[in-house]
Amino acid sequence: MRATRAIIHLGNLARNMQAIRGFIKKGVKICAAVKADAYGHGAVECSRRLLAEGADVLAVATVGEGVELRDAGIHCPILLLSLCAPEETEDAVRHDITPLVFDKEYIELFSMAAEKVGKRGYSVHIAVDSGMGRIGCLPEEAGKIARMLVDSGKLTIGGTCTHFALSDGTSQEAQEYTQLQYTNFLKAIDNIRNEGLEPGLRHCCASAASLSHAEMQLDMVRPGIILYGYYADEVDREYLNKLGTPLDLSPVMTLETEVSAIRRFSRGMSVGYGRTWIAEKDTDIAVLPVGYGDGLLRRWASSGLEVAIGGKTYPIRGRVCMDQCMADLGLGSPVHRWDKAVIFGCKADGAAQDADDIARATGTISYEITSCITRRVPREFVE
Ligand SMILES: *Cc1c(COP(=O)(O)O)cnc(C)c1O
Repeated sequence: MRATRAIIHLGNLARNMQAIRGFIKKGVKICAAVKADAYGHGAVECSRRLLAEGADVLAVATVGEGVELRDAGIHCPILLLSLCAPEETEDAVRHDITPLVFDKEYIELFSMAAEKVGKRGYSVHIAVDSGMGRIGCLPEEAGKIARMLVDSGKLTIGGTCTHFALSDGTSQEAQEYTQLQYTNFLKAIDNIRNEGLEPGLRHCCASAASLSHAEMQLDMVRPGIILYGYYADEVDREYLNKLGTPLDLSPVMTLETEVSAIRRFSRGMSVGYGRTWIAEKDTDIAVLPVGYGDGLLRRWASSGLEVAIGGKTYPIRGRVCMDQCMADLGLGSPVHRWDKAVIFGCKADGAAQDADDIARATGTISYEITSCITRRVPREFVE
């Protein structure tokens, strides 16, 4: 295996899942979001563990992601959170992947697919746009859509859902908007019932709302990022402590590599493309076989990324290349060639920072940091 690897701590995934369980009311189902290869952690292995730890449903974003899970022998319900192309609908139905539908054309496409594949009463969920501004029907259309769906004769309502735009914020404005969306969602549910139809599983909470708006858990919650050990923006460790509902999460991924060479640089020598860093004094430079082709972005270094080697941290110098980057060890460091170098992740692995630290420094969110670790980086699954 390559020196550059992502260590995936399935034990931490399991502990995070159990910690979340503690937050979720009895009888509420858990739909674990494993889209984007489980936020970069490896969808098949993470799904298997999450199911073993009591997840009821898995959520993916593409038909291909769902098929990957089916091919791995996973039989639980799989929810498709994003829309697929017309030519993918049959494949979705054949693999029992449950789509979110909200308009006539998409309902017709799935009815036809169900007909062709020979499945009667194919379960789909109705998506309601209660204020996210992405997919879904308006709350007042929900009854009409539900009727259309049932009248197709091929589909049944397995559930009804919505998604919040601001539930990871803790300001009064954010909370009021979430409350407004929730009220809109309940109106949509009423609208369906007024048609004499049942909405099926009602679900609206991703990670943030599952934790901070327990009254909105309804029949199912859809946590993602917290499974992987990171809080959802402002709904963080401190905020939950303040609410009196502490939650202890541990990162699941550690990105590590090895020092592939140590080279003595004399004053005036430059490091890498663009010669953006020039040694002001003699120093030892460690070459690390990890670059933006692995997901370690150029921005991380220009935002002050430090790599941890043997319990000490060293700054990355110069530009990150596609496959390599360079760290400044100074003179007389205890670092040896082939020593382990940790980019981010678990403290127990020697990491000095986690994905949230890098996200904050580079103006993004932890989701993006772990999801962007590319396929070239082997995932090593450990307990
Ligand atoms: C990604 C996603 C989730 C999970 O979101 P987290 O913030 O990671 O918990 C839940 N629901 C929908 C519709 C999503 O797209």
